[in-house]
Amino acid sequence: MDTLAYAKLRTQLEELAHFSSTLALLQWDQEIYMPAKGGEPRAKLISYLSVVAHEKLLALNSGKLLTKLVQEAKKTPNTPEAIVIRDVWRSYTRERKLPTAFVQELAELTSRAQTIWAEARAKSDFSLFLPSLKRLVELKRQEATYVGYKNSPYDALLDTYEPGLTSAQIDPLFSELRDFLKPFLRKLKAAKQQPPAATRLKGKFPLREQEAFNEQLLRKVGFDFEAGRIDQSTHPFTTNFHPYDVRITTRYSETDALYALGSTIHEMGHALYEQGLPVEHFGTPLAEAVSLGIHESQSRFWENMIGKGRPFWKYFYPKLQKQFPKPYARVPFETFYRILNRVEPAFIRTEADEVTYNLHIIIRYELERGLIEGTLKAKDLPQLWKAKMKDYLGVTVKNDREGVLQDVHWSIGAIGYFPTYTLGNLYAAQFSETAKKQLPKLEAQLEKGNFTPLREWLRTHIHAHGKTFTSEALVKEITGEPLQASYFIKHLKEKYGELYEL
Ligand code: MG
Repeated sequence: MDTLAYAKLRTQLEELAHFSSTLALLQWDQEIYMPAKGGEPRAKLISYLSVVAHEKLLALNSGKLLTKLVQEAKKTPNTPEAIVIRDVWRSYTRERKLPTAFVQELAELTSRAQTIWAEARAKSDFSLFLPSLKRLVELKRQEATYVGYKNSPYDALLDTYEPGLTSAQIDPLFSELRDFLKPFLRKLKAAKQQPPAATRLKGKFPLREQEAFNEQLLRKVGFDFEAGRIDQSTHPFTTNFHPYDVRITTRYSETDALYALGSTIHEMGHALYEQGLPVEHFGTPLAEAVSLGIHESQSRFWENMIGKGRPFWKYFYPKLQKQFPKPYARVPFETFYRILNRVEPAFIRTEADEVTYNLHIIIRYELERGLIEGTLKAKDLPQLWKAKMKDYLGVTVKNDREGVLQDVHWSIGAIGYFPTYTLGNLYAAQFSETAKKQLPKLEAQLEKGNFTPLREWLRTHIHAHGKTFTSEALVKEITGEPLQASYFIKHLKEKYGELYEL
């Protein structure tokens, strides 16, 4: 390896990372603190910095630096340097295909469309958002053409979020899942043994006390407050500027403490991943997450596999009862557990339970893929949305706000993103199966509030590798098998079979 050339690349990568961190900070601020009138100038600022970052990425190959390094990397393909070079080359070649004017228009449009979407959603009026969405779909189809693809233009977009994965690989997984979930959901709804209504857990939960409880939980599981913070936003998210500065958000309901806790635990899973990335490799792919699907596997692992399980709550429930004696002191543990895991088909994805959640995703996947492949039109989305919600979940969507306008993703140009949520659930279930085998005392440890062995297991097996493996290779490396839907299906059958006495 030409060490001088590699050192030069590393310096440039670190500069690029400064741009990504700055953009992430501006976007975080936009969600948390920015006043309403700041939207327009912020869109220009973000667009300007995106263009500079785009140009800097293209400049990586000036003097054929990257081209030469790619050749060198072929001699020692398994070294960390070679992994970095290959991944940077991948990003570079993708970016090189996008004209600067295109990048600028997309950045401006998405920043503006987000504000328009928020207004359309508040007014529950899809027609306000339609012109922006139409233009977005045109641009994303254009992007797919620039980037290139083998079978479906959708694959070119999916590749941004889940590198290497194609819709042809997703289809059998999602079909198996959908064909299991639809009848399984009907069985649960028809079961005699139904968990009590969630109203038993409603009460009055002052904001400050909730914040304190959420922070206490984060601290106990292992979120590093010296390297992160938690704030409030309408839609919870995690962002990071460095493994030493990871931001999460949650949202509170003053009548339901579990509303915030679910989101907090989810975002904590993302944050532990970011805080667990190897800091010495900052700026390179070795300190980046594998993919959004693997990222989501970490949030889902904590939120569902752990945070909706008995061992976790055997430790935290007494603390919750102490903090909020009304209503929890009167609710026995088993009742609490059963309500926590109540399956209830509803409109809103982000509030969906483990069973119905993936049907929400499959609907979005089918629709956005149709938009990009040109088999359906943006103007028909509200009707198609309603029909699929009725068919898959048995619910009647009353308006656009609860329907097609509920998610921010399309407004920010994130088409090809939704499938990573379900992939995350599948990865999480498969990882969980292996973790349980390799940590035979896990249940007892969780019950005692000892989260270190599990957190460290995730860190050493997943976080510490950065992008050393592709998602496909990582799953095989950890579990010995390629990704499959069967582990998640098995998890649902066992857990809900017991709960609903099927
Ligand atoms: Mg997430």
